Amino acid sequence: PSVPALEALQHADVARMLPVPAAESDKYRRGVVGVVAGSARYPGAAVLCVAGALRGGAGAVRYVGPAADAVIARFPECLVHAGPPGKAGRVQAWAVGPGLGDDAGVVEEVLASDVPVLIDADGLRLLDAAAVRDRAAPTLLTPHAGEAAALLGVGREEVEASRLDSVRELAARFGATVLLKGSTTLVAAPDAESSPVRVNPMGSSWLATAGSGDVLSGLAGSLLAAGLGARDAGSAAAYLHGLAARHAAAHGTPITALEVAEALPAAWRDVS
Ligand code: AMP
Ligand code: MG
Repeated sequence: PSVPALEALQHADVARMLPVPAAESDKYRRGVVGVVAGSARYPGAAVLCVAGALRGGAGAVRYVGPAADAVIARFPECLVHAGPPGKAGRVQAWAVGPGLGDDAGVVEEVLASDVPVLIDADGLRLLDAAAVRDRAAPTLLTPHAGEAAALLGVGREEVEASRLDSVRELAARFGATVLLKGSTTLVAAPDAESSPVRVNPMGSSWLATAGSGDVLSGLAGSLLAAGLGARDAGSAAAYLHGLAARHAAAHGTPITALEVAEALPAAWRDVS
């Protein structure tokens, strides 16, 4: 039986994926997401990634890294830790990478964990395909075209010219789910042969602004912690993120990444 190559998401698909806390739920059962992001040079990436994670349906967000002061100043509801990820306490998923700079060593540590891991931005730079393939738990990679090109060892134009082949090739090589960002976001599962690549039709070109990708990775990481599979977490996150941007830019005004995070509840209401 032949499987269609592509599948476009709509409100109802995303509604089915989103977590709803059970009556007897508590913050741990809803899932704890660990965010490893930011650096002395890029503290803002940590704040934006946490902003997305707080709106993503996990019961709690743990931030691990050097930007704890900036994070807590903006988000008192976030638990912060200065030490290595392994010392931060139990999480149900990790979102790693935005603004890490050269501290890509923590990526290895997180990849060695037995929970789902999302890797974005600086975390993608030194990624070892074998380390990802050998993981038992799901991995979600969220490159933009430039990052995808570096992972594939080709030029950015090559990825732009064949986005569907590129996302499938990355998923196969890394044995991971891959979300290729851009004006149309694509999500491919590692078994791309047997499952269609998801297409997010709900983008917004207002998202072409600094930090919007950091919000997306926190959001998708939070959905992973809440129990969604990597393919659903990536596609639901891309959909809500685009819809939030449309809300934030409803009056045709430029938006900031933080405003996208703040509009996530409106996006969530639309689909549910
Ligand atoms: P990053 O490149 O990591 O900053 O992430 C940028 C985010 O904005 C991703 O979610 C992209 O899919 C989205 N984005 C960037 N440019 C566009 C565009 N022209 N149309 C729609 N979405 C975009
Ligand atoms: Mg980015």
